[in-house]
Amino acid sequence: MNYTKEVLYKSIRTGTYYKTPEEAEKSGLCSCGNEKKRHRIYCDNCEAVKQQEAANYEFKKFKNKSVKIWGDTVKIVYDENTDIWFHDEVEVTEHYANEKLNISDVRLVEGVPNYLSEIETDIYEEDIHDEFEFSDKLLEALENLNEVAGKIIGCYLPDGCRIEL
Ligand SMILES: [Zn+2]
Repeated sequence: MNYTKEVLYKSIRTGTYYKTPEEAEKSGLCSCGNEKKRHRIYCDNCEAVKQQEAANYEFKKFKNKSVKIWGDTVKIVYDENTDIWFHDEVEVTEHYANEKLNISDVRLVEGVPNYLSEIETDIYEEDIHDEFEFSDKLLEALENLNEVAGKIIGCYLPDGCRIEL
């Protein structure tokens, strides 16, 4: 009898075998064979490993960004470590000093401007009949609105370069 192909999952605690990961999961087992809490995907051990993997991935992503020195072109910076936005270097160093945080943990990413979205005629979709035609006056008004709105920064997104202090 060939067990290795058919029986893949075994409970570490009870020694029970399961054929599929789904069956094992339903019976409260993590894919490693450890018991897990209900409604959780992993046991505590695997959860810790997965979280570390996610943290490593985020750190690698951060390290792979191109580097920029904080200067005039950088308006606002997001710190992945504290989840706080900063406007200048002094704010960062003061915050870290006040909160007794280790400045070497800082992970600054440049904030890039996110401009207000364009308004298009499809926002009126619910209000109009099939053959409705938009007047030139309305189209022109929308164009003017978009020109103004498109220059207004609604928020910043942490999508820019890595910033070194
Ligand atoms: Zn596990």
